[in-house]
Amino acid sequence: MSAPMAKVRRVVTDSMEGLTLADYAQCSSRVVTVLGQNPGQFTGPGTNTYLVGSGSRRLLLDTGSGAAAYPAVLDRALAELCAGAQVDRVVVTHAHPDHVGGIGQVRARFGPVAVLKKRWPQADGEFAAAITPLEDGAVVGAEGATLRAIYTPGHAPDHLCFYLVEERALFTGDLVLGAGTAVIPEDSGDLGQYMASLERLCRLEIETIYPAHGPVVRRPKEKLRDYIAHRQLRERQILEVLANGPLEPIQIVRHIYQDVTPALHPAAESSVRSHLKKLVGEGRVARTARGFALA
Ligand SMILES: [Zn+2]
Repeated sequence: MSAPMAKVRRVVTDSMEGLTLADYAQCSSRVVTVLGQNPGQFTGPGTNTYLVGSGSRRLLLDTGSGAAAYPAVLDRALAELCAGAQVDRVVVTHAHPDHVGGIGQVRARFGPVAVLKKRWPQADGEFAAAITPLEDGAVVGAEGATLRAIYTPGHAPDHLCFYLVEERALFTGDLVLGAGTAVIPEDSGDLGQYMASLERLCRLEIETIYPAHGPVVRRPKEKLRDYIAHRQLRERQILEVLANGPLEPIQIVRHIYQDVTPALHPAAESSVRSHLKKLVGEGRVARTARGFALA
């Protein structure tokens, strides 16, 4: 007999901690990954940027944070793994700084290349004028590669995943990571939308996930299933601890993140707040003078 779900503390058990990746590597005949040279607590080994296509003019999907070491690494990857190809256009999953921070470097190196993304006026900032807007279903083609944009809000309001038709592969940005779980920012994120985006991805034929952080995922169905189960478990845990009386978010964190180092409690609190926002919106939890309580 399996243990009751209430006793299960975690679904996703891997993490970015201590993970290292090569500076650049060939993922397939039309995908080369180039590390953004921006390691950190939330980026893991750094942002994965991807050169996509097989011709002399390739797409660059995401650009890293603008780390000084990135352009030289990108150049080496183009020379050694892409037969000296150039970057033709930049495709962006979403406007967080560790994805768009390198746009200026890329345009300094390859000229005023177009930046293809869904608009997010509050975040697009200095490169807004360079944007070619993409919406759900838009197709971006390069020699040897066809990308289809899939609108997947939840982590960020402009978030697009890109489906690589030729490989049945999906570039998931920050929606699904190679290790650990994604952050749902309390302000601009939306957990309800995030869950709907994961459900949408489950309906696609996906053989490979190319995430923005961490290693390539070769078992995408299990990964998506675990991601959904992880959030469902957290939601149940929050409802369980609130059944004993009202609590503030940080108190909820202390109850349900006992296995997580206190250094990560602020991130966990942000995640708990996102869950509470969803539950309040659904009328299942209410804000009271003594904290959040079951409605
Ligand atoms: Zn992000």
